[in-house]
Amino acid sequence: VSTSQAGTTSDASAPAALAARLAEVQAGIADAVDVAGRDAAEITTIVVTKFHPASLVRELYGLGVRNFGENRHQDAAPKAEALSDLDPVWHFVGQLQSKKAKAVLHYAHVVHSVDRLSLVGALAPAAEEAPATDVFLQLNLTDDPARGGVAPADLEALAESVLGTGGLRLLGLMAVAPLGGDPRSAFADVRAASVRLQQLAPTASALSMGMSADYREAILEGATHLRIGSAITGIRPGAG
Ligand SMILES: *Cc1c(COP(=O)(O)O)cnc(C)c1O
Repeated sequence: VSTSQAGTTSDASAPAALAARLAEVQAGIADAVDVAGRDAAEITTIVVTKFHPASLVRELYGLGVRNFGENRHQDAAPKAEALSDLDPVWHFVGQLQSKKAKAVLHYAHVVHSVDRLSLVGALAPAAEEAPATDVFLQLNLTDDPARGGVAPADLEALAESVLGTGGLRLLGLMAVAPLGGDPRSAFADVRAASVRLQQLAPTASALSMGMSADYREAILEGATHLRIGSAITGIRPGAG
C-alpha cells in the first residue's frame, strides 16, 4: 500500500470524485433516454479505462460497473489478469493487429473493431475454441483509412465474412464520430448503414456509438452500446 507522504495529491477525494462522475454520466444517460423515448434497458454503458490502472477498474466494479473497454492489447491483458478474481465483461475497442487477435480473445468477450477481412480470418480459429465471441463491424465515417473501420462500400462483404465464420456472433456496427463534425448526423449515417446490414443479418441491430462528448446524440440516434471514458474516469494519465 503506497502512502502519499508529501500530501500533494488529491488521492483522498478520488473515490468520491469517481463515484460522482459516474453518477453524473448515468443521470445524463437517463435524461437522453427519456428525451429519446427509449427504454434504459436497451443500453449498455461500457466504461473505457485505457491508460488507467487496474485499481481504477476495481473501484468502478465496486460501484457496480460491469462492462469495461480497452484499446491496446498490451495494456488490456495485464489488467484482465489482475482482475481475474472479478467477473467483468471486457470490450476491445481499439484497432486490432491480426497477429494479436488470438491473444485478445483470451480475455475479451466483445470485439468492437472488426474492420477487415484479414482480421476476421485471424479471429476465426481462436473464436472456434472460445465460447462464441460477439463482434461489431467498425464503420469508418472519414476518408482516412488510418482512423480504422471499414469503408461503407465494403461493409456487406465484411459482414458476409463474419456470418460465414463459426464462433463469431455479429452484433452490429461500431463507429466514432469524426472530429469537428456534427455527431448527430454522423450517428444518423451509422443508423442508415445498420439498416443495410440488417438486410443481410437481421439480428445484427446493435449500435456501438457515443463517447464522453457525444453520448446524448448517440442515444437519440439509437445507440445500444455507449463507450465512455474520460467523463467517468477523469483525465487519462500519460497519453490519450
Ligand atoms: C478512448 C475511446 C473511447 C472513450 O473516449 P472518451 O472521449 O474518453 O469518452 C471510446 N471509444 C474508443 C474507440 C476509444 O478509443
